[in-house]
Amino acid sequence: MSQADHSSPLTQKLDILKGVGPRMLPKLAKLNLYTIEDALYHLPIRYEDRRQLKTINQLTEGQQQVFVGSVLAAGETVTSRSRRRIFEVIVGDKTGKISLKWFRYRKSWLQKRFPIGQKAVFIGEVKRFSAIREIHHPDAELINTTTELSAILTSDPLNFGRILPVYSLTEGLSQKQIRKIWFGLIENFPQYIKTFLPLEIQQKHQLLPISEAITNVHWPENSTNLYKLEKGEDSARNSLVFDEFFFLELGLALKRAGVQLEKGIAFEFEHKYTLPLSKMLPFKLTDAQRRVLGEIKHDMMSPHPMHRLLQGDVGSGKTLVALMAALIAIENRAQVAIIAPTEILVEQHYRTFHEWLDKLGLKTALLVGGMTAASRREVLSGIADGSINLVVGTHAVLQQGVDFHHLGLGVVDEQHRFGVKQRSLLKHKGANPDILVMTATPIPRTLSMTLYGDLSVSVIDQLPPGRKPIATELFRPAQKQAAYTRIRNELEQGRQAYVVYPLVEESEKSDLQAATSAAESFANEIFQGFRVGLLHGKMKSAEKDQIMERFRCGDVQLLVATTVIEVGVDVPNATVMMIEHADRFGLSQLHQLRGRVGRGADKSYCLLIPSANYSDDARKRLAVMVQTEDGFRIAEADLKIRGPGDFLGTRQAGLPDFRVANLLKDMKLLESARHDAFDYVEKTDQLSKPEAQSVKEELIRRWGSRLELASIG
Ligand code: ADP
Ligand code: MG
Repeated sequence: MSQADHSSPLTQKLDILKGVGPRMLPKLAKLNLYTIEDALYHLPIRYEDRRQLKTINQLTEGQQQVFVGSVLAAGETVTSRSRRRIFEVIVGDKTGKISLKWFRYRKSWLQKRFPIGQKAVFIGEVKRFSAIREIHHPDAELINTTTELSAILTSDPLNFGRILPVYSLTEGLSQKQIRKIWFGLIENFPQYIKTFLPLEIQQKHQLLPISEAITNVHWPENSTNLYKLEKGEDSARNSLVFDEFFFLELGLALKRAGVQLEKGIAFEFEHKYTLPLSKMLPFKLTDAQRRVLGEIKHDMMSPHPMHRLLQGDVGSGKTLVALMAALIAIENRAQVAIIAPTEILVEQHYRTFHEWLDKLGLKTALLVGGMTAASRREVLSGIADGSINLVVGTHAVLQQGVDFHHLGLGVVDEQHRFGVKQRSLLKHKGANPDILVMTATPIPRTLSMTLYGDLSVSVIDQLPPGRKPIATELFRPAQKQAAYTRIRNELEQGRQAYVVYPLVEESEKSDLQAATSAAESFANEIFQGFRVGLLHGKMKSAEKDQIMERFRCGDVQLLVATTVIEVGVDVPNATVMMIEHADRFGLSQLHQLRGRVGRGADKSYCLLIPSANYSDDARKRLAVMVQTEDGFRIAEADLKIRGPGDFLGTRQAGLPDFRVANLLKDMKLLESARHDAFDYVEKTDQLSKPEAQSVKEELIRRWGSRLELASIG
């Protein structure tokens, strides 16, 4: 029986649980909990040690503690300095005293609850502010004066005498409530969860069956090592994490195997255009470019479709590699499509490719959103009859009605800006064309293997020669004049500069206003005598092109822009990048922006101007920018600051969400799960052997349609 079986209790709604009625259901839904299975995987976020009651002198500061005491005094006080009202209760036992404080409270209720002499179990984090220790807003369970301590521990096994789970909550749901409901859940349902992980793999890593692991994570045995539990290192949790990773990697392994079986185009290497191009280039390819080009050629010549990720830091020269690959396809009378995320970048690529292809007698076309009907029709017919060799465009290329005569190679630039769907659409514009995706976002190897599990990865780990380091400086808003002086110096020497403003949403008027009025005051006051241009997303394509062209040829010296210039723009004579409200940008965005300078032989500068007040995270980001130019280190820092979910955009990559695992923390487990999964796929002939039948069904259940969509469809 598979778990998708409708008769399985796991798919039942939560109201079959005791304590869950029509009022509780919507609260649980707020936590995305609908079925029994959802609830079983709603794991504790931390634990509370209530195995023993402590005496007051034994309480550990900085931790949740549980103890019994009697009320010695209670009442309201007003602080002398801030005139704040506080309700304070002093409790004591034979060994000492402690102060309990409430800052938000109903006085009459607390007074009634804590008369002198009242005995209670108190739970809360112990802090020390002065001579006497304190707990703020403790939980309390009133008890009879005559009750024995040992009796307390055993009388309420749900809340005392054990390691207690603490869950994430939502409004109107208390720890006590959820604990009670979950206790019923854990008593009755884990046994329905089957373990699909092949037995030999379970044994190899000494993993628990899932049902047992789930039970232990919710209700740890009292002998559990609490430290490991809190660190997420205990074997029960690891069993769940491994299971999750194994099925993830299994899906990726299958996809990879599938790609290797697909029939693609086996290009031949003719040198008809590639050789003349390398002779025309004003520079030599770097060793790294040469190496990745070799890897790409190898893929293109094989009879299976290429699915390759080309990763290289900003300015490493990915475009040229793409151009060479394009020429190989064209030599074989196939067409090439290149897509990029912004019109400005598309325009720039069009310029580059057009220039070189023209010299080789080949035809390049541009395809973007706002074209006139007539020119669009002309391009479409050239694409359809094969007279256009290469088309550069935005996602407009992916629309219906764009039919290629014979698409041989699809290139996606700045692929992290695209979703999985777009890559899949591109692939389906031809009969298994080769696909090359390019990114400047370097991600740690294990993560990239997971994220792009079915892609081969090539890395350009070297910049073209002669690049000078970019000096990155952080200015306080009050020091702006110094930054302006730097810009003026560069402009006077014939160089160009960018000043960038954040624009979270293109519609945010005030941001647009900031860029617009800055451009005005630059032109009329601060940089009077220099030619200033303005570029933002609200402008018409033609206007944008015109400004960009004027900047490129040096007519505009200072370009004030919103983040439309973030990726890919290449104007080597620009040597200053000033970023206003730098705190509002993410790290990889800042790195991309900085990558717009330092592209020529001259020394370049990146000037960061944060807003007047900025967060701690922003402070960390800016410090990283000043410290290093290494895209890899920046990506790692970004990953640490933001956490893996945001950083990777896992959903965008088409990967299933994790219920337990944490990509960063559990990297080691990921590696071994990947290893085992790839082995297993090979050993079972893509899960076709009978013993892999149930594993295969479970895989399909978990991945669903995403199995087809992941990375490249
Ligand atoms: P990115 O990898 O960020 O897309 P680009 O492809 O835009 O980088 O290249 C950055 C700049 O480096 C371009 O001006 C390009 O002409 C130049 N370039 C590329 N390869 C070389 C090389 N081997 N030697 C010198 N300059 C190069
Ligand atoms: Mg680029």
